[in-house]
This record gives sequence, C-alpha cells and structure tokens, in this order.
Amino acid sequence: MKRPGYLAAFLEFWTPRPEIKKVWFSLFTPQVGDQMPEILSSEERARAIADLSELRKQYPKLDMPEAVIRQFSSTPQRPQDCVFALTTQTLSADLRTKITPCQFGGNPDCASCGCIASMGLASSLRTNWEDYFPSEPFSKLPSRLASTERSSEQSINSQRHYRYCKKREKCGNQEPRRN
Ligand code: SF4
Repeated sequence: MKRPGYLAAFLEFWTPRPEIKKVWFSLFTPQVGDQMPEILSSEERARAIADLSELRKQYPKLDMPEAVIRQFSSTPQRPQDCVFALTTQTLSADLRTKITPCQFGGNPDCASCGCIASMGLASSLRTNWEDYFPSEPFSKLPSRLASTERSSEQSINSQRHYRYCKKREKCGNQEPRRN
C-alpha cells in the first residue's frame, strides 16, 4: 500500500494467467506495540478496503465478497470476540504445541487484524450463523457473539453476502454473476 495502484497492478499481472483461479488478500497483522514498516496506517488500510471494493468488480478472480472486505474496517477488538479464534485451533509444526490465542500467537493486535479468514467468519456471523454452522459445537457459541452489535450498513452487506453464498451453491460453487 506504500505504492498507489499496487493492488490493481498485482491483479492485472496475475489474474490473466490460466493457473490462477482465485485471488484473496490478507493485510499484515502486527502484535500489540509493534512498530514495523509493514503495518498499514489507518489511511492506508482505508485505501486498501476502498480499492478492494472497486477491484472486485473489475477482476472476477478477486474472490472476496463485499461484506468480507468491509469487515476489515470492523475487526474484533480482542481474541475473546473473534469467531475465528474461538472456532479454530492452530498447532505448531510439531503437531502438538498449541498456538494461542489464534494463528498469529502471542499478543496479536486485533484492531489491526488483516486475516481474511477472521474477517470471513466475522462477516458470516452477521448473516445467518446457523446456515453456516448448523451443528454443535458451533451453534452453541457464546450468546455474546450472537449479540454482536449490527449497524444498518453491516446488516445490508450481510444480506448481500448471504445471497452471494446461496448463489454460489446454486452454481455448483462457481462464481455467480456479479451485481
Ligand atoms: S485472527 Fe485477528 S482478530 Fe482474531 S484473534 Fe487473531 S489477530 Fe485477533
């Protein structure tokens, strides 16, 4: 994001290639207190979100629903509020050592989280949770998660995301026509 137009240039280079089926972007996730050049400023993060929202319309291989992209501007504030952290377990390469509280380990800066998986699950929660996770233990997630505050804009985006996923099911998981 230090170079304006980089995301578009990246997609322009990679998406015409037949080997490339889909493109997802994650943003860099720091630990609390980190000072590193890879960390996006709030302006750079906002620009990344805006760019991705536009680029998904131009590049169908950019397989990121609008609701997921927007979720980057509304991250969980702590691991206890993160659906991804609550529903997954990360193991180290020895397949025994548990990495907590999420795949980043340590003391991750949730407010700056850039994990697309976390954003995807968070946006799914705002749609219809039981449609995604109909059986226990996920359906029994703490009720405080289900009561996550919803803004009207998030609600609209969630409905779009839900319709998008339903369309994908009907298309045999192929990319449906964009709105
Ligand atoms: S995935 Fe992101 S939001 Fe979730 S606990 Fe880790 S850093 Fe926080």
